[in-house]
Amino acid sequence: MLPMIDPKCFVMHYVVSFDETNESMKHLNGTADITPKANSGSGLGSNLGANPGLGQARSSQPFVLSGQPNTAEAPLVFDSPHSWRSWPAGGTRSAAPDIALMSGWDAYVDELWAEALEGRAPLLAACFHRCYIDANRSRNDIDPALLSTPWPEPVDLSPAGQRGMGLIRRFALPGVPMYDAPLTVDDVMGRITRCYDPYHAQLAALVDAVHARFGMCVHIDCHSMKSKGNAMNEDSGAARPDMVVSDLEGQSADPFLVRWVAASLGSSGYRVQVNHPYRGGELVRRHGRPASGRHSIQIEINRALYMDEQRFVRHGGYGRLVRDLGRFIEQLCNGLTADLAPRLGAPFSSPKPQE
Ligand SMILES: [Zn+2]
Repeated sequence: MLPMIDPKCFVMHYVVSFDETNESMKHLNGTADITPKANSGSGLGSNLGANPGLGQARSSQPFVLSGQPNTAEAPLVFDSPHSWRSWPAGGTRSAAPDIALMSGWDAYVDELWAEALEGRAPLLAACFHRCYIDANRSRNDIDPALLSTPWPEPVDLSPAGQRGMGLIRRFALPGVPMYDAPLTVDDVMGRITRCYDPYHAQLAALVDAVHARFGMCVHIDCHSMKSKGNAMNEDSGAARPDMVVSDLEGQSADPFLVRWVAASLGSSGYRVQVNHPYRGGELVRRHGRPASGRHSIQIEINRALYMDEQRFVRHGGYGRLVRDLGRFIEQLCNGLTADLAPRLGAPFSSPKPQE
């Protein structure tokens, strides 16, 4: 059974009054379970375990899912791997201050897209902090310097991993180590088997289900980015555009679709760049097979559009962004069920009747 969240629960979040800044800053280290809080009024990923009355139901799975493939309006799947802000209860405590861990959080991205989607397509969201284990890195992107003993499986450290941002973070921010002692192999292996592998398996199942029903699938991998890169980023110090759409330089999605997505987002007035400074990560690499009608596109949204980056609270731009993303989704749904899909490489069929 998959944990489900009724999209209506997101509305509840805004009638619950609490100081987001205070709630964001306290209890990050060592207070939250990795288990998702299905049907929580706190929304996907905003659960600090400190909001009374929010987050009652629990599941043993490290993700939450809103929407289902068999009710999707169009061949779409969304995922948000970095929008969980809590550190797991019982997880090896990080030496980094909470404020540093918060900067790695794709704040409110799950809620942004869930509100924009209104249940029109499935949205998978991780319930583990991206600094704990990063679903958007290769399973082998492990820095041996983090470990007390050699890693028993192949190691393939990426350029990001060499800068401290691999599967398991070495640095929360430049010069801010994540841990003050080496991690055990068992610790890291546990993170993979409890969080990383199930997340990817669930996303693969969603993509498979949508592909089986529609004959194709467009997977949108949802992120946010700081308005300016830091010393751990390739574009250190540079101001970023409003959005970055990426497809591993044409490898994870049909280039026509990628241009269409960028143009659709740009039609709302946003400055959109393609494949720079982000090219796409492990999620689009794993789940994008454009020759088989499986298109994966990463979208990064500039946090300054919708939140105060210092205080980690939403500002007035949030509502406009939800509306604009909703319009984008509407255009995408209409396009994929009409004139857009036939222009992509794979054949498109009408949805099969629900069983
Ligand atoms: Zn992200």
